[in-house]
Amino acid sequence: MSLNTRSVKLRSSIRELKLSETVRQFRFSNSVILSSSRAVRRATLHVRLIVGNTMAKISGSKARRNRIVCVVFDDGWKSQLDALPVLDQYGFKATFGIIAGYVNNPLHNKYMNWQEIHNLRSQGHDIESHTLSHKCLEKLTETELRKEIMGSREIFQEQGIDTRILIYPLGIGGKNNRIRQALIEAGYLAARTTIPSKFNLSSGDFLAVGAFEINRETTIKGFSKYLGGTGNSTVAILVYHRMGPEGVAISQFKTQMAYLCKHNFKVKTMKQVLLEFCEKKQYSQRNSIN
Ligand SMILES: [Zn+2]
Repeated sequence: MSLNTRSVKLRSSIRELKLSETVRQFRFSNSVILSSSRAVRRATLHVRLIVGNTMAKISGSKARRNRIVCVVFDDGWKSQLDALPVLDQYGFKATFGIIAGYVNNPLHNKYMNWQEIHNLRSQGHDIESHTLSHKCLEKLTETELRKEIMGSREIFQEQGIDTRILIYPLGIGGKNNRIRQALIEAGYLAARTTIPSKFNLSSGDFLAVGAFEINRETTIKGFSKYLGGTGNSTVAILVYHRMGPEGVAISQFKTQMAYLCKHNFKVKTMKQVLLEFCEKKQYSQRNSIN
């Protein structure tokens, strides 16, 4: 082999070596890029999972924080005052539906007097109208109807109490246009029935608000069932009548309030929930006669 031929072969070998080194480097860097991009993808997925889980936890806890319940006492029985220490224990404020004509009336001495009602108010509880004399509104003449609806509101106004929510006697009246018209004319913004249902603030009928009646037969399982589905704009309203030996035992009430506390329900008055929402959503535009 001539020197010239050797030199050509050597140069060729060197070129091949350089080329294979370039290819190796390219493959190496490519694999680094590939593995890096895989790592980035894995990391991104991981971050997404963490963010997703965190968001779910945040929205879950937000929904839990927004689970609102109203505790309502109908009729204004004196025995309802026995529930106050339990409400105080949990820092809960309730709504009391008072029959205006029964207050300070010797014929109705099992009902609260004005002093007791004012005390409730000063403690942050909500006082609303349960009409003048608890008659079934559907059976009344026009004059009697207006007396029950407007007359009670005027009595409360004389006491410095602005009642904008009416609680229907016997839970009846929410679907009656004559009654609904009289309520609107008297300045009420909402009215509550005893139709067993939760109330949706966004889509519900403010003059036929549903509620669950709690009695001495209500088990904690039944109680928790009433609360299922509460959250965001869906509110559960729980109604009590007589308390103690003639109605719901205070120990039973305490168990129920403890349940609300333990499961992070927020207890608000009907005034806080319904009227605040009405004001926000320009209620008058939506509230109409059927
Ligand atoms: Zn009643």
